Amino acid sequence: MSNLTDNKVIDLGGLRIGDDKHPIFIAGPCSVESEEHILKAAFFLKKLGVHVLRGGCFKPRTSPYDFQGLGLEGIKYLKQAGEKAKLPIITEVMEEKYIDVVSECTDIIQIGSRNMYNYPLLKALGHTKNPIMLKRGLSATVKEWIMAAEYIAMGGNDKIIMCERGIRTFNDYTRNTLDLAAVSIIKRETGRPVIVDPSHGTGRRELVGPMSKAALACGASGLMIEVHEEPAHALSDGNQSLDFPQFEKLIMELRSIVNEP
Ligand code: PEP
Ligand code: MN
Repeated sequence: MSNLTDNKVIDLGGLRIGDDKHPIFIAGPCSVESEEHILKAAFFLKKLGVHVLRGGCFKPRTSPYDFQGLGLEGIKYLKQAGEKAKLPIITEVMEEKYIDVVSECTDIIQIGSRNMYNYPLLKALGHTKNPIMLKRGLSATVKEWIMAAEYIAMGGNDKIIMCERGIRTFNDYTRNTLDLAAVSIIKRETGRPVIVDPSHGTGRRELVGPMSKAALACGASGLMIEVHEEPAHALSDGNQSLDFPQFEKLIMELRSIVNEP
């Protein structure tokens, strides 16, 4: 399938996001839980050649009674961990008032699934310089997702990474249904990099490996995988998080697929 649009590769300090030959790996815990927790994850992931460290600080939880993230304190720990391990960092911003601080402290800004339709927030991101990773809305059509990206691009920031994280269907065996056809469609229609998130896409740890391989096979620009030192004690999304040995095994397998040492 030939591209209708040229690839819009994003250069993040030498890391090329969207370069078809070199998929990138983003990994880390769902939430930043403490200074030590994120630091330990950062060093472990750096050693394995992960390219970007993730960690949620403002958490969009279904229940208001669940852990809501460490907020600005979490941003501070994530930034320190990224600097010490020499890894660029990504975190989610949910409110316009935090855009400045998040864009100052982090390398990539994540827009979560629940905010894909938050047009004022998307417009405000158009004025930032950071690459934006735009997750697909919980039930968004591909067209709606593409148009959400245009809300950001319209303001002048065209460094947009699309993230397929599954959509709601009648399927009752997985948290969401990972739509891998959308990877090819988005690349073809927009040329933008597409990262696949098999963790939220399935909600089940045992499916993260198979879906990661499938995503790379269909041309994803990279993967975002949730990793936690002790998933059973994670403050969020433990069921879909890989522990350190599981992630190490998977990344070795993925490397052999993409022919990288
Ligand atoms: C996340 O990446 O931690 C997250 C909350 O994802 P989503 O917005 O896809 O649910
Ligand atoms: Mn999560």
